[in-house]
Amino acid sequence: SAKNEGKNLCRVFQPSMSEEATQRMILETGLRQALEDEQFFLTFQPQVDVSTGAIVGAEALLRWAHPERGTVSPLEFIPILEATGLIVPVGRWVLESACAAVAQWQKAGLWHSHMRLGVNVSARQFAQADFIHYVRHATEQHKISPSMLDMEITESMLIEQMRETVDRMQQLQDYGVTFSIDDFGTGYSSLAYLKRLPIDVIKIDQGFIRDITTDINDAAIVETILAIARHMNLQTVAEGVETPAQLAFLQANGCDRYQGYFYSKPISLVDMTNLLKAQGNKELVEAT
Ligand code: C2E
Ligand code: MG
Ligand code: MG
Ligand code: MG
Repeated sequence: SAKNEGKNLCRVFQPSMSEEATQRMILETGLRQALEDEQFFLTFQPQVDVSTGAIVGAEALLRWAHPERGTVSPLEFIPILEATGLIVPVGRWVLESACAAVAQWQKAGLWHSHMRLGVNVSARQFAQADFIHYVRHATEQHKISPSMLDMEITESMLIEQMRETVDRMQQLQDYGVTFSIDDFGTGYSSLAYLKRLPIDVIKIDQGFIRDITTDINDAAIVETILAIARHMNLQTVAEGVETPAQLAFLQANGCDRYQGYFYSKPISLVDMTNLLKAQGNKELVEAT
């Protein structure tokens, strides 16, 4: 199919193409150009300690600065990157840029050894034979500790080649990287994966957090996930926290960290740097 063909392929618009196929072709062409033209950028969403309120890390979230449309959501273009294989070079760029950001914060005294930056990793990217190699390369080049990186993977990534996936995860863990299972509870066989995979952190999907204070089923699900994590010695991060009531629920039930609009939306590198500085200043004031 066309998607497997070379980069220089020039496709001609067919009048018979559906509107959807046309839109997709336009997006795909734009995405091929985006990496070259440096239209991708990262935003950062702080992760906060539920009990102390301190920033203990962040998640790197990819954005596309489209020349005409403005900022495009990853929900729209990640599936295309995955289907075309473009996720491999783009994912490499994400990892590289994430390491560069951590290095910059570390140099400025804003990033401490216990802090972690979450990077989303796609199945196809993780399956590359040289994946471990370029993780090593990126961390060494930027002189950051691998333990400052947290790789966010999803359950859907794990359906094929379980054995190889587990081996590769273990090698990266030996190197110091941690693993989070992202959007936990939305995929298949969550509990079977928890048993078989070397996971450090469970990220509870925002779909369970949304109605946590009004829907007894969601409340029960989140309480249960937190209890399982506690028993299995896994850390927990709640996603999509938007209200003080949701945070109070998480506090009462022993969730470790959260991220969400209640604390901050994903923000630019500059804004994240300023937020980390403000936290440093606050600690200084409190210590004196
Ligand atoms: P995710 O990893 O589950 O990221 C969390 C998403 O929830 C982000 O959407 C974030 O902006 C959004 N979010 C955070 N707090 C709140 C909140 O309080 N309320 C609501 N309603 N939403 C909140 P975003 O940035 O649009 O990313 C969507 C998805 O795209 C991510 O979901 C992730 O699966 C994927 N993605 C983003 N960046 C990358 C990347 O670099 N590589 C790969 N492979 N996937 C990525
Ligand atoms: Mg994520
Ligand atoms: Mg998530
Ligand atoms: Mg999600």
